[in-house]
Amino acid sequence: MRFEYSPAPESRAIVTLRDSYGLFIGGAFVPGSSVFKTISPASEEVLAEVTHAGPEDVDKAVAAARQAYERTWSVMPGRERGKYLFRIARLIQERARELAVLETMDNGKPIRESRDVDVPLAAAHFFYHAGWADKLGYAGFGPSPRPLGVVGQVIPWNFPLLMLAWKVAPALACGNTVVLKPAETTPLTALLFAEICQQADLPPGVVNIVTGDGATGQALVAHPGIDKVAFTGSTEVGKEIARACAVSGKRVTLELGGKAANVVFDDAPVDQAVEGIVNGIFFNQGHVCCAGSRLLVQESVHDDVLAALRRRMGTLRLGDPLDKNTDVGAINSRAQLDKITELVSTGEAEGAARWSAPCPLPDRGFWFAPTVFTEVSQAHRIAREEIFGPVLSVLTFRTPAEAVEKANNTPYGLSAGVWTEKGSLILWMASRLRAGVVWANTFNRFDPSSPFGGYKYKESGFGREGGRHGLEAYLDVTGSADV
Ligand code: NDP
Repeated sequence: MRFEYSPAPESRAIVTLRDSYGLFIGGAFVPGSSVFKTISPASEEVLAEVTHAGPEDVDKAVAAARQAYERTWSVMPGRERGKYLFRIARLIQERARELAVLETMDNGKPIRESRDVDVPLAAAHFFYHAGWADKLGYAGFGPSPRPLGVVGQVIPWNFPLLMLAWKVAPALACGNTVVLKPAETTPLTALLFAEICQQADLPPGVVNIVTGDGATGQALVAHPGIDKVAFTGSTEVGKEIARACAVSGKRVTLELGGKAANVVFDDAPVDQAVEGIVNGIFFNQGHVCCAGSRLLVQESVHDDVLAALRRRMGTLRLGDPLDKNTDVGAINSRAQLDKITELVSTGEAEGAARWSAPCPLPDRGFWFAPTVFTEVSQAHRIAREEIFGPVLSVLTFRTPAEAVEKANNTPYGLSAGVWTEKGSLILWMASRLRAGVVWANTFNRFDPSSPFGGYKYKESGFGREGGRHGLEAYLDVTGSADV
C-alpha cells in the first residue's frame, strides 16, 4: 500500500551560498588560476562558482601544509591536537542542519540521508579520532608511533562530507597535515568545512582544500612534497594512482569500487531481508562503493522475495531531495546518469529482464527510477561491472557452496551481506566470502570504530579506514619497538 504524503521540503534558508569560493590554503580563502560552476543535480541550477586549482595552487597548498606540519602540528602534544578535533566535531554538530541541506543541494541525495547518516557520522568520526589523539602510544603500534608528514587526499562525490571526515580526522589525530581535493561535482560541504576549521581556530595550514577536477587530483598525488596519498574513487583511477606512487615510495591507501553480493537464504525473514536489499542498493541512489548490487537469492524463495521486493520498490518516493519524505534523490551528474543508462541498456540487450518502479521522473535534473534485473547470468555486464546507480541484478543459487562461488566471482572484494536465521551459516559464509566487510542480517552499517576496506589481492583497494586499524595508515610505526 502506498500512502500519499504532502510535500515537506526542508528550508534552504539556513544555507548562505557565496557567489564564488576560493581555495582554502594556509587558513584563508585565496584566488586560484580559473573557476568552474557547481550545480544542483536535482534542478541543474547553478549553485556557486568554485576555484579550479592548477599545479601552482597545489604547490602553495602543499607548502602551507608542510610549514604547519613542521612548525605546529607534528610538535603539538596529542592532547592539544585532540582538543581541536573535539571542537571540530562539536561545530559539525552545531551546524548539522546547514551541512545537511548544503550536501543535499550539491549532491542530490535525500535530506533524510544527509541529515540522519552523513552528517552525524562525520561528527562521530571526529569525536572518535579526537579520543585517539593522545593515546596513539597505546594503539598497539609501539610506544611512539610518529606522523607521516603531509597527506594528499582525493575523495569522490557520493559522500562528500563523510569521505572528508574519514580522511581528515585520522590524519589530524595522528599528527599529519592535509591537502584535500573534493570531487568536482560536490565541493561545497568541503568549503563549508574549511569555514568550520577557521571557526575552530585550527592553526593555519593544518587543513588545506583545493577544489578542481581530475587534473588537480593528479597534480596533488604526483607532488613531491606529499608523504602519503589517500584516495577513494574508481578502481581505474586508483590503479593510476598506485602506479604514479609506486616509483616515489609514497605511502598509499586506496578505497575503490565494489560489486557486492547480498545473499538471501530460504530461512531469512522475507520482509526484513527486503528492507536490507532496498537499503543495500537504493540508499544514496546506489552511489555507494559497498552497495549490495548483486542479489543472490536461494532458488526456492526467489519468487516470494522478488514479489515482496517489487511491492516495496513501488512505495519508494523519488523526487525533490530536500523533501523529507523522499527516499530516492537525484543522480549526481549527467555523466553518471549516462553511465547508468548505458549499462542498463546493455543488460536489456544481453537478455536480462528489467523491471523499474513506476514512479514519475521530474522534468529537470538527473533521475533514474529504482530498477531490478532478473534472469541475469554471471557473464552479463550488469553482473560484473559497478553500475553505481539504483540498479539491482538478481541471480539465484541452490546451495551455500554455490552462493559462495557466485558471490566471490568478481574482481572486487569490498563488502557482502548474508541473510539467514542460522548463526552457524553466517559464520560459515563469512569465513569464505572474499570481502573486506561482511554484514549479517543487515547492510550498509558504518561506525567510526569499525575498520572498512578492500579484501587483499582483489580490486577494491588496500588499507583500512576507521577503527584502530585505520590509524596505522597515518603513522610511521617502523621505529616502534612493539610492532
Ligand atoms: P573518479 O575515480 O574519477 O573520481 C574520484 C576522485 O578522484 C575525484 O575527486 C576525481 O576528480 C579524482 N580524480 C579523477 N582522476 C584522477 C587522477 N588521474 N588522479 C587523481 N585524482 C583523480 O570517479 P568518477 O567520479 O569519475 O566516477 C566514475 C566511476 O567510479 C563511477 O561510475 C563509479 O563506478 C566509480 N566510483 C566509485 C567510488 C567509490 O566510492 N568506490 C566513488 C566514485 C566513483 P573529479 O571529480 O574532478 O573527476
